[in-house]
Amino acid sequence: MRCPQCGDRDTRVVDSRDLDDAVTIRRRRECGACSTRFTTYERIEAARLVVVKRDGTRQEFDRDKLASGLRKALTRRPVPETAAEQAADEIEAELRSEGMTEVPSQRIGQMAMAKLRILDQIAYIRFASVYQSFEDLEDLKREVDSLYDARGTIAVDLRVEPKAAKR
Ligand SMILES: [Zn+2]
Repeated sequence: MRCPQCGDRDTRVVDSRDLDDAVTIRRRRECGACSTRFTTYERIEAARLVVVKRDGTRQEFDRDKLASGLRKALTRRPVPETAAEQAADEIEAELRSEGMTEVPSQRIGQMAMAKLRILDQIAYIRFASVYQSFEDLEDLKREVDSLYDARGTIAVDLRVEPKAAKR
């Protein structure tokens, strides 16, 4: 940090305090060369998280978009109203905790499917049918069979939402 008066780099912090918004720190500094005092404001910069799509294009991670995809899959399913939001938050927290700046979109899709598989199996199949775009009924059947294998005999409702949500 250069002194605004003389340009010297030898400055020291004489006072430091959090501002009310708790993400800004205000610092009083003093130049070691000319003793000029000045103030700096330090803010936390949220690390960028970029999603790399299958075709190689990149876009900023959009937590709300993820939550809306999850919400769509969970429509009218017996899960808490906040389930989609919570799952999206958990996925974002997991990605950020890894400290990665770029993440393949497939990875996010797989994380979303893992969440849905625990939350609600119908939602899982709905999401998988859009996300994985099953080639044919055999693929879909394999996915459902794997759910049966995992959980034993359960009633699986095979009505799948139309593919309109695919992007
Ligand atoms: Zn100075």
